[in-house]
Amino acid sequence: MGKSDVSDASDEAKQRQNFLMNTEANRLASFQDWPFDEDCNCVPSKMAAAGFYHCPTQQEPDLVRCFMCSKELDGWEPTDDPLEEHKSHAPKCAFITKKKDEKDMTMAEFFKLESVRQHNRVMTHVENRIKEFTYEAEKTRQQIEGLKNQ
Ligand SMILES: [Zn+2]
Repeated sequence: MGKSDVSDASDEAKQRQNFLMNTEANRLASFQDWPFDEDCNCVPSKMAAAGFYHCPTQQEPDLVRCFMCSKELDGWEPTDDPLEEHKSHAPKCAFITKKKDEKDMTMAEFFKLESVRQHNRVMTHVENRIKEFTYEAEKTRQQIEGLKNQ
């Protein structure tokens, strides 16, 4: 298994894409150029049902992202089971821990899930800002220390 975790998504474009991909139909439509076909375990229908959409890059033609937790995975092999991969790489994802298939969900349940996704989005943003702030604070502290020692 050569699959690798890719850095977590955080920027606005990715978040907008995650919003568009909160329906299985839209996720399925993203797998136009997916390299795995009928005889594989990781066919588009199973990928979409597992919460993933296709977001290929030059270096990672088989890169996919979960619309809910933003987990990115590439290095797929024909025998990989998308849902199992999602479970093992992001066990706490709200899409993974939900009890029902999208088609069996009520509107209220669907929006509950969407509110979790929005919560994740905000938390990721806040965590990134805290990291930036901590980094800047440390840099400033070092500058002050440098001035003191002159
Ligand atoms: Zn997920």
